[in-house]
Amino acid sequence: MIAAADFNITKIETSKLNDINLENIPFGKYFTDYMLEVDYEEGEWKTPEIKPYQPLLMEPSLAAIHYGQAIFEGIKAYRNEAGDIQVFRPYDNYKRFNQSAVRMQMPEVPEDIFMEGMKLLISMDKSWVPSQADHSLYIRPFMFSSDEMIGVRPSEKYKFMIILSPTGPYYSAPMRIYVEEQYVRAVPGGVGYAKAAGNYGAAMFATAEAKKKGYDQVLWTDAYEHKYVQECGTMNVFFIIGNTAITPDLDQGTILAGVTRDSVITVLKEMGFTVEERPLSIDDVIDAHKAGLLYEVFGTGTAATISLIKELRYKDYVMEFDVTKWQAAPEVKNRLNDIRYGKSADNNGWMVKV
Ligand SMILES: *Cc1c(COP(=O)(O)O)cnc(C)c1O
Repeated sequence: MIAAADFNITKIETSKLNDINLENIPFGKYFTDYMLEVDYEEGEWKTPEIKPYQPLLMEPSLAAIHYGQAIFEGIKAYRNEAGDIQVFRPYDNYKRFNQSAVRMQMPEVPEDIFMEGMKLLISMDKSWVPSQADHSLYIRPFMFSSDEMIGVRPSEKYKFMIILSPTGPYYSAPMRIYVEEQYVRAVPGGVGYAKAAGNYGAAMFATAEAKKKGYDQVLWTDAYEHKYVQECGTMNVFFIIGNTAITPDLDQGTILAGVTRDSVITVLKEMGFTVEERPLSIDDVIDAHKAGLLYEVFGTGTAATISLIKELRYKDYVMEFDVTKWQAAPEVKNRLNDIRYGKSADNNGWMVKV
C-alpha cells in the first residue's frame, strides 16, 4: 500500500489562489496549485510525483497525439457545512478508468496510485475547494500514451495524471434536442463504453450540425436502425413514462456507464419509481408522448448532474415540455446535492472523505 511518504513532492512557492476569486468561477478554466504525474515505463509504474501545476514538455512524435490512446475521468469533491471535503463515488470512477484503459490497450492504474494520489493531491490543494453553495472541486484524472515514436503499435510508455479545477454552479439551461439519424456515437463492439478522448472528438461534428439547426445537443440513436436511443450528447438519458423511469441498458457496450446514471437510478427507486434499464425505441417515446404519458426527459452527468430537456425533435415530430411543472428530475437533483453537501444521510456509502 502506497503512503504519502512514497510520493515525490515538490512544493510551490506561492499559491495562485491569492489572485483568484472562487465565487461563480467558470467550469474547467482555472487549475489548482498542484498536479499528480506518474510515468509508466518498462512495464511498471514509477514513483508518483506531486508538483506545481505546469506545462508538459513533449516531443511532436508523442504517440497519443497521433494514435489517440487517451482516456479520462470526471469526479467532484464537495466541502460540507462542517468543512470536511468529500469525494462523490471515486471508486466507481476508478473502476471505469481501468475498464477504459483495458479497451484502449493501456496499462491499468493501481488503486493506491489513483485513490491515495487523488486524496493527497486534494489535501495539498484543500484551500481550493470552494465553500460557496453549489460550488465544487472538479477532479480530472487522465492517461495518455507517451512513446516518442510514430510506429503504429500500442505505446510502451504512458503518463497518468490528475489535475483539479474549482468550479461554480453549473447551470445548464433546459435543452432543445435533435434526434440524430445520420451520425453515430457508438456501435456494439466499439469503444462507446470507454471514456476515451476520441469519443468526444468524434461527436463534435454532429453536435455542431445540430447547433446550426438551432438545437443544443443530439440524442444519439443506434448505428443499425437509428431507432433505439443511446445518450444525449455526453450525458446518459432518462425518460419518465407514467410511473416508470426508463434508461438504455448497458448490455451492448454502446452506453457510457455514468456514475450519475447509477446514482439517479438508486434515488428514483427510493422515490418510488419503477426503473427499467432496457432498449427504448424512439417510436415508443413518441407513442408515450401521444398518449400523454411522457412526463419528463433529462440527461445525467457529473458536470451538471441533471439537465432538463424541454424539446425533443424526431424528423418532423416535435415534443415540447413545460419543464417548470416537472417534479421528479428536480427532486432527484436536490436529493443528490443534499448527500454531496452533507445535508442528508449518505445511506449508500457514496461519499469518500479526503
Ligand atoms: C462521462 C460521460 C457520461 C456521464 O458519466 P458520469 O459518470 O455520470 O459523469 C455520460 N456519457 C458519456 C459519453 C460520458 O463520457
